[in-house]
Amino acid sequence: MARPKKYRIVEYTLKPMIFKPNRKLKGYVELTIDEVEAIRLADLEEMYQVDAADVMGISRQTFGRIVKIAHAKIADALVNSKEIRTGKEEKCRNVKLVKCENCGKVWRVPNDYDKDICPECHATNVHILEVESDDEKNKTS
Ligand SMILES: [Zn+2]
Repeated sequence: MARPKKYRIVEYTLKPMIFKPNRKLKGYVELTIDEVEAIRLADLEEMYQVDAADVMGISRQTFGRIVKIAHAKIADALVNSKEIRTGKEEKCRNVKLVKCENCGKVWRVPNDYDKDICPECHATNVHILEVESDDEKNKTS
């Protein structure tokens, strides 16, 4: 029996980006949206791994593994002059905005994610602000 897929909550929808070194390219690395979100939480927000894992809806072990992979890819790109590509995976996922009534934090979760707990203060009095559809946005071409 297949294990149910764990939700990996990404707080914002990342547009695919490419970072290029200003010298001869020696290949590329590709960061998934999960990996970008993990290093954002760990390195920019400086969250503890256990809290960051909670925000993403995954285990601390999985979070640690994702951060480690992301760091290795970035190091590879910086040291070995490789392009960094981001956000290729899961770019068309429907998300809803959720607001915490306790601390005012607003974040995004997948539409069918129902564990609505504030990642900031862990309050449960949260409500849905709006439903965004990436598919709708991507329709125009
Ligand atoms: Zn809150």
